[in-house]
Amino acid sequence: MLKIKNLEAGYGKLRVLKRISMHIDSGEIVTIIGANGAGKTTLLYTIAGMIKASAGDIILYGQNITQTKPEKIVSAGCSLVPEGRQAFSTLSVQENLILGGYVQKKRKRNQREELQKIYDIFPVLKEREYQLAGTLSGGEQQMLAIGRALMAHPKLIMMDEPSTGLAPLIVKDIFQIIHRLREAGNTVLLVEQNAKAALGIADRGYVLETGKIILQGPAEDLLTNKDVQRAYLGRDVSAEGAQCELD
Ligand code: ATP
Repeated sequence: MLKIKNLEAGYGKLRVLKRISMHIDSGEIVTIIGANGAGKTTLLYTIAGMIKASAGDIILYGQNITQTKPEKIVSAGCSLVPEGRQAFSTLSVQENLILGGYVQKKRKRNQREELQKIYDIFPVLKEREYQLAGTLSGGEQQMLAIGRALMAHPKLIMMDEPSTGLAPLIVKDIFQIIHRLREAGNTVLLVEQNAKAALGIADRGYVLETGKIILQGPAEDLLTNKDVQRAYLGRDVSAEGAQCELD
């Protein structure tokens, strides 16, 4: 679905991403873990077209999107759930969702139907449909941000730190939602500080360090890798232990 080859990007003279190569297959959850400042957000922003690549290629479903504008990338089937949710706080839940579907050509005719699909996934958003997004709890805002991205019918949904600032119980809900999205056939690229939970639901993972991929493999292997455990998991965990957090 997504193939990245020798990607480089940064800010002005600051080179952040250094020859990144990776791929995501249809129906997978792939996670990128790494310390603060490793370049995870920069990578998602570059795929989303919000930062221009200085070298390399990003291929989405065979289409080279490396120099494509962000809104065209959304139309091509790649949506971003940004870090910190970035809901439009003075607009209602419904209005936020409608904005997410802006790229849909037949949006007016099917709008109610499209909204209902999101409310079926997140019933709490239906209850809050006419409430201002700024009055929602952190967890509800995260659901709104995911729902807004889904309104564009992405083939690939990228999520940047969805667990940030949420209480542990809510984090568990959010990870269960991501798990269910994959069960429903979505493909997810997940950036997370919470490496244990991310590897617990992912099929594969990449470890990013100072803009380079230093390790990659099946999530279960990364969970039991001693270097990953030391650097990102804090202690020894088994894949089974991480998975049971979803039960
Ligand atoms: P975090 O988890 O802290 O968000 P990250 O892995 O997502 O970390 P990035 O946010 O991609 O890392 O940052 C990578 C590097 O780019 C860091 O050195 C950061 O200071 C720098 N950086 C990020 N945004 C900008 C910007 N707008 N202008 C200049 N430098 C930036």
